[in-house]
Amino acid sequence: IKKIGVFTSGGDSPGMNAAIRAVVRTCAYLKVDCVGIYRGYQGMIEADFKPMDARSVNNIINKGGTILKSARCDDFRTAEGRKKAYDNLIAEGIDALVVIGGDGSFTGAMVFNKEYDFPIIGIPGTIDNDIFGTSNTLGFDTATNTVVEIIDKIRDTASSHNRLFFVEVMGRDVGHIALNVGVGAGAEEILIPEENLGLERLLESLKRSKKSGKSSSIVVVAEGDKTGENVFELKDYVEKHLPIYDVRVSVLGHLQRGGAPSCFDRVLASRMGVKAVESLLEGKSNFMVGIQNNEITLTPISKAIKGHTKIDKELIRVSDIMTT
Ligand code: ATP
Repeated sequence: IKKIGVFTSGGDSPGMNAAIRAVVRTCAYLKVDCVGIYRGYQGMIEADFKPMDARSVNNIINKGGTILKSARCDDFRTAEGRKKAYDNLIAEGIDALVVIGGDGSFTGAMVFNKEYDFPIIGIPGTIDNDIFGTSNTLGFDTATNTVVEIIDKIRDTASSHNRLFFVEVMGRDVGHIALNVGVGAGAEEILIPEENLGLERLLESLKRSKKSGKSSSIVVVAEGDKTGENVFELKDYVEKHLPIYDVRVSVLGHLQRGGAPSCFDRVLASRMGVKAVESLLEGKSNFMVGIQNNEITLTPISKAIKGHTKIDKELIRVSDIMTT
């Protein structure tokens, strides 16, 4: 391996820049050339390349988003698109890739690897923590810290006005963010797609907490939860059946994805970047770097994209106890 291409793809997440930096610096340390590929697979198809040395990644470890930009690219789903990408990589002398992204980006990488036997290692970058083979994806820790901080602020208003707040958080079809911030911010209820509480039981639970003397309530709702059609329907339902509450909705949206990465995500990104480059130089390919029991590990990409990480049942139990 003489020249490694690094790119970010799919949704951005805090820690991606720290991972780019780690890949570039490890290449410099091991005397391998490194090229940044802009806008993910789109930049590969358009030959949007820029050589990177150790100094080109100064002052980015603390930045959210991705300096290499990210994009969704439909052309890469076609054989012609991937052929163009391959020809461009060969013309540039790139002989291995590090992809930082989510399961869609890994699927693209796997298809490409199969077609051209091109060495690829993945680094999981998404706030949703929905990738098998790692207990943490890059950005999850930062996003949960961001959300907890906001819920603390919402709680100030909730308790001053005896209000009930439904706070919708990201996570696509899994409830990792919701469960963790719900426990971390002391929510009264946590609604996640992995466990359907049902509208009736939600109502019962809210009645109980009102009876027990609680003056305000925070209910964290995962965006993929199906208890109600959506979070506004939940509000209408509760207002209709439990008029004692003044109900408000807060959909947090994209502010959860931005911001400076936490120390945990910066350290994780650094460890993953080193492992990714070292693995390529050891001749490994088609693996995703992950962290399990605080060890940096490799999981075949095919496995990483198939299974979601399971929701933490023990944490659900803890949250049930905390909400009594
Ligand atoms: P996030 O989890 O934040 O959405 P992601 O990596 O899952 O990130 P996607 O939009 O699903 O994001 O995928 C990113 C890109 O990967 C796509 O725009 C496309 O270029 C490529 N890709 C995804 N699936 C395939 C596939 N089956 N074949 C080829 N390329 C693919």
